[in-house]
Amino acid sequence: MKKYVYSFGGGTADGDKSMKDLLGGKGANLAEMCKNGLPVPGGFTVATEVCNIYFQNGNKVPKEIQDEQGQALAKLEKLMGKKLGDAKDPLLLSVRSGAKFSMPGMMNTILNLGLNDETTEGLAVRSNNERFAYDCYRRFIQMFGEVALGIEMEHFDHIFDEKKKKRKIKVDSDLSAADLKAIIEDYKKLVKKETKKDFPQDAHVQLDMSRDAVFRSWNNDKAVYYRRMEKIPDEIGTACTVQAMVFGNMGDDCGTGVGFTRDPGSGENVFYGEFLINAQGEDVVAGIRTPQAIADLKKVMPGVYKELREITTNLEKAYKDMQDFEFTFESGKLYMLQTRNGKRTGPAAVRIAVEMVKEGLIEKDEAVMRVAPSQLDQLLHPVFDNASLKTLTKITRGIAASPGAAVGMAAFSAQGAVAMAAKGPAILVRKETTPDDIAGMDAAKGILTAVGGKSSHAAVVARGMGRPCIVGASIISIDEKAKRFTAKVGDKTITVKEGDFISIDGTTGDVYVGQSKTVEPSTKSGFLAEFMKWADEFRGDFGVRANADIPKDAKAARNFGAEGIGLCRTEHMFFAEDRLPFMQAMILATDEKSRRAALAKLLPMQRKDFAGLFEAMEGFPVVIRTLDPPLHEFLPKREELMVAEVKLPHATAKEKKEMAAKFGCTVGELKKTIPSLLHRVEELHEMNPMLGHRGCRLGITYPEITEMQARAIFEAAVIVAKKGKKIIPEVMIPLVGGYKELEHQKAIVESVAKEVLGKAGLTKLKYYIGTMIEIPRAALTADSVAEHAEFFSFGTNDLTQTTMGLSRDDYTKFNAHYENLKIFKTDPFGSLDQEGVGKLIELAIQLGRKTRPDLEIGICGEHGGDPDSVAFCYRAGMNYVSCSPYRVPIARLAAAQAALAKGAKTESRTA
Ligand code: ADP
Ligand code: MG
Ligand code: MG
Repeated sequence: MKKYVYSFGGGTADGDKSMKDLLGGKGANLAEMCKNGLPVPGGFTVATEVCNIYFQNGNKVPKEIQDEQGQALAKLEKLMGKKLGDAKDPLLLSVRSGAKFSMPGMMNTILNLGLNDETTEGLAVRSNNERFAYDCYRRFIQMFGEVALGIEMEHFDHIFDEKKKKRKIKVDSDLSAADLKAIIEDYKKLVKKETKKDFPQDAHVQLDMSRDAVFRSWNNDKAVYYRRMEKIPDEIGTACTVQAMVFGNMGDDCGTGVGFTRDPGSGENVFYGEFLINAQGEDVVAGIRTPQAIADLKKVMPGVYKELREITTNLEKAYKDMQDFEFTFESGKLYMLQTRNGKRTGPAAVRIAVEMVKEGLIEKDEAVMRVAPSQLDQLLHPVFDNASLKTLTKITRGIAASPGAAVGMAAFSAQGAVAMAAKGPAILVRKETTPDDIAGMDAAKGILTAVGGKSSHAAVVARGMGRPCIVGASIISIDEKAKRFTAKVGDKTITVKEGDFISIDGTTGDVYVGQSKTVEPSTKSGFLAEFMKWADEFRGDFGVRANADIPKDAKAARNFGAEGIGLCRTEHMFFAEDRLPFMQAMILATDEKSRRAALAKLLPMQRKDFAGLFEAMEGFPVVIRTLDPPLHEFLPKREELMVAEVKLPHATAKEKKEMAAKFGCTVGELKKTIPSLLHRVEELHEMNPMLGHRGCRLGITYPEITEMQARAIFEAAVIVAKKGKKIIPEVMIPLVGGYKELEHQKAIVESVAKEVLGKAGLTKLKYYIGTMIEIPRAALTADSVAEHAEFFSFGTNDLTQTTMGLSRDDYTKFNAHYENLKIFKTDPFGSLDQEGVGKLIELAIQLGRKTRPDLEIGICGEHGGDPDSVAFCYRAGMNYVSCSPYRVPIARLAAAQAALAKGAKTESRTA
């Protein structure tokens, strides 16, 4: 018979740590800890499959599984020597959610289950602590009410806070037994009013309702959002672990806490965590009371501290990874309630991986696999410029919870941050965050909270998302209604309103008013440099190049480890203000002669740009693409010109000057230029510019453009080569649909090259001519294209658009539908559509290499910086990927991981 319920406790367990799929991370690790003799309260885990069965079965757990659960409960009762619902000595339970992947705070947990009017009296007598018993009961009604009965937490909070106010009490633990009793009565009335039923007194009914609620919490909004963000599949479901309660809220030798075996922000190898005396469950993370640092536990409870330190050190050794653990101590006795591989920031991930290799805990290949490529992003972000910081006012130093510099406009609610982010960078400022803030945290560049510690919700989630975060900035006083905060700095009161800029440094915890400048981070030293060295060893000769149009970007790219330029978009050079007039003159020219005259003006500028690129990339290839966009992109908008035409007769001198600057002529010429621009704009108008007169189609109708660009490229090559520098020019023809277009353009480039290089006596200089593959027809006829191309570069932005018949700019109108309905797995313009576009790429590679086995093949679309797409390119047999400079290290790591994954595959095949 199939097993659905897995027991643990008393030194044995049905499951173990390898069973995360079935038991969830939490259930699997509780079983494992139990097996290893660690102090874990007994319990059982209802498998993840049951979550799916529950939904398929009309939100009901079938009888067989219900019976199996009954047996597991009987076993637990025997182990504990207590019975669920026993009036004198009740067994109390926690009902906990837990999927294969950790989703902190996204689903629900219910504590103290089994309490009712009767058992609470029993508990009070047994524990000889009436206050404790009522505290447990009121917590249970509250959690059960919210999670299982769907009553808004606000209603409970209102009753609770009113009581505190009335009794003039600040801290929860100061409420007396009588106060709690009164609160319980009000809670029960609330339940009756909201659900039209009494609060369920039958402990077994409570258990089943709680279990079902845990299953349902799999589909609550925040859990769904989190899964989408973290790319966790929806089908895997959550397990439900039912466990005997232990009590951290029974007095001053009791408490509860959470911790990490290393600092999850920086990665430093220090014991890290927080605890609260006389508290239960979420009290630590919820930021209700400010917890104490774990170091204090050594003083308060030395025995507990020592045991906890020992256990967690061993856990880290056994799991070979940093552990994130939860514990409770009851009357001086320690219990472990959870362990898992902890979430960490990018910098911490790198540092921990490197240090664990040095400690002999893991091998280098494992270290390289440990860091998600996207996590590097956080190490590559700019940091604050010190000089700029000095000009800002520092408000405070809060608790540094997640590193990195963030500059943005203050927003005081999650929705506010989402709205703000559409206008510019936002910083979410909250008293504390809750799981409902997830979308706002995601939209913000950084997060700042006034209360809470290093393991508060804000801190944990921000680290997981890689957002800079400062918590516990207690000096700021937030008025969420008025959308502002104030802070007293010295004798001044500073007010920050919604939309005002602030700068926060999650590495130091410093908060500033104003907008700081930032500078590039360093990747050349420290843990990252060492880590990347290992990654490059595994990557082998698979190259990573950068898309860069100007020497400054090329230098930045090299700094990040780029091995060449995979795409230089020459048109970006024409948009500069000093060049646009010549570009316009070229476009306005009605005959070849005047077009050539305009092009001649552009030639020296392009030559200078290319020379700069060659120098910056000395020793590496530089791929330069000839002109790609349709010409009207270089002209003013039609509407703009029409308005100007009407306005010109009445324009003031100042307005005329502005127009002249805009339209690239003198004030005197305006009268002639505006109508002729307008005329040309109308001539050039296209129904579908994306599919129109662009790419090589321009170079074919105006060969002199290609000629000028080739001349600029080779003259630049001569200049730099003559300085004794090694250069490798690669000229790329865009948007070909077959070999004929390439043949035509190639002839022009070759004849210019021959002339220029011959004149300079550099006929030996090796250069390459190749093409973009971005039209399906070019991919389908890649064998004949390769007869004329020495290299292919997949332009996957256009190739995706043309293969899918989908314009990237218009996709945003309905992308949400397509991705929510899972018609598309993910945005095909962000991550390559491997099934469709990928197939075309594979075919083109195969055909191309059939003609020309040494054909050099790369990718230069946006996808070149997306880790999944990089892995695809590696598997497909490309020679390199090319991406934006900032993504170069990410691509290097993704390629290394693809190489390692491939190695592993062949190994297991031979084994
Ligand atoms: P989450 O997945 O949100 O962390 P958990 O299931 O871990 O939820 O429960 C949250 C907290 O509830 C735990 O950290 C612990 O403090 C408390 N808790 C859970 N089970 C028990 C138990 N059996 N005894 C005492 N406290 C518990
Ligand atoms: Mg937990
Ligand atoms: Mg293109």
